[in-house]
Amino acid sequence: MNFDLPEELKVIREATRKFAEKELIPISQHMEETKVMPAEIIAKLKELGYFGIVTPVEYGGMGLSNVGHCVIQEELARANLAFCLLISGNNGIGSMGILYFGNEAQKQKYLPRMATGELLSCFALTEPNAGSDAAAIQMKAEKKGDQYILNGMKHFITRADISDVFTVIAVTDKAKRQKGGFSAFIVEKDAPGFKIGKLQDSMGSDILHQCEMIFEDCEVPAENLLGQEGDGWKAAMRVLEEGRLGQGARSCGMARRLIDLCVDHANTRVQFGKPIAANQAIQWMLADMAVELYAMQCMTYDAAWRLDQGDRTQARASKVKLFCTEAIGRIADRAVQIFGGMGYMREAPIESIYREARALRIYEGTSEIQRLIISRDVLNK
Ligand SMILES: Cc1cc2nc3c(=O)[nH]c(=O)nc-3n(C[C@H](O)[C@H](O)[C@H](O)COP(=O)(O)OP(=O)(O)OC[C@H]3O[C@@H](n4cnc5c(N)ncnc54)[C@H](O)[C@@H]3O)c2cc1C
Repeated sequence: MNFDLPEELKVIREATRKFAEKELIPISQHMEETKVMPAEIIAKLKELGYFGIVTPVEYGGMGLSNVGHCVIQEELARANLAFCLLISGNNGIGSMGILYFGNEAQKQKYLPRMATGELLSCFALTEPNAGSDAAAIQMKAEKKGDQYILNGMKHFITRADISDVFTVIAVTDKAKRQKGGFSAFIVEKDAPGFKIGKLQDSMGSDILHQCEMIFEDCEVPAENLLGQEGDGWKAAMRVLEEGRLGQGARSCGMARRLIDLCVDHANTRVQFGKPIAANQAIQWMLADMAVELYAMQCMTYDAAWRLDQGDRTQARASKVKLFCTEAIGRIADRAVQIFGGMGYMREAPIESIYREARALRIYEGTSEIQRLIISRDVLNK
């Protein structure tokens, strides 16, 4: 067994790490204070191809594997999770529906412009009455002539306010529900009858917004149906499975940053005449953080590699998401403790990472829902 990254990915990791250290980490704290990502950095991310990491080369992307995608997400999340969230629609939940279920015309129309970042995209499943129980969605899509008419509401949708294209899951057959009754649609932001509702102010993840999306007799051309009518649930589950691996990689990046910050702080903060790192209580917290990071990285890259070999199980992605997002919660909590009062103050970067980390146990399926998926798999065996 060889757990080393292939040479090509080592080069990409090094380049992303250098870019993050030189250009992203230095502006991260300012971004947290102003809640704005500078336009020139967004332009740079586009220019360097980060919006098309996994898009196949024939559609203008880098065509990286799941392992490669994890490498980049880890490095960007180390700088600030917002960079991952910005590119994640185009590389993940906002584009995968088109990549896996779209026809050639849909792929040609959207993927190349998503890969350059000209079009931003997002994924809209959650509704006010359908979160964990996503199969309870109410949003209707009725076929009328050569259009589908969408009615309903989505909420908590990341980046919807700045996206041009959405993958939207709606009910086309009420009786069948998730068993062939849901369909996936590509909806463009200027579709008649669509508007963004409230921007939902949140605890963290607030450089990019979560939004309400309102569809009132929204007209979507029938040619924007993804796959066949009834493929919506399959599309949503596939998109979420790969998204969940990404949560593992992002947690690893955030953990690395926290450990680096804590090591610096523990070595320089002097109390009782010696650096706090001289205390075994602090050393043990650092040791526990390092052990969890190691386990997180092993799980994430093992699962990504297996997925690249075509070995896919929903439960494995759920195990990664569950373990890594819970571990980053513990790591962030210890980081606040090691920083003491300064860990609680907005002037140090710890508190914003702590808030960001909290959301990871909720979106793309809560920890409880991951346990549900894993336990079903265990019991079925
Ligand atoms: C920052 C953020 C970004 C998001 N971005 C998107 C996005 O881009 N697109 C999108 O579609 N959605 C998005 N979401 C929605 C997210 O996926 C949901 O919030 C999540 O699935 C949980 O649903 P809920 O919030 O309705 O909680 P609920 O489903 O109401 O759950 C409340 C609690 O009950 C628990 N629970 C529910 N059912 C069970 C059960 N059967 N067994 C045990 N416990 C249970 C949950 O685990 C949770 O602890 C985002 C959410 C957040 C917070």
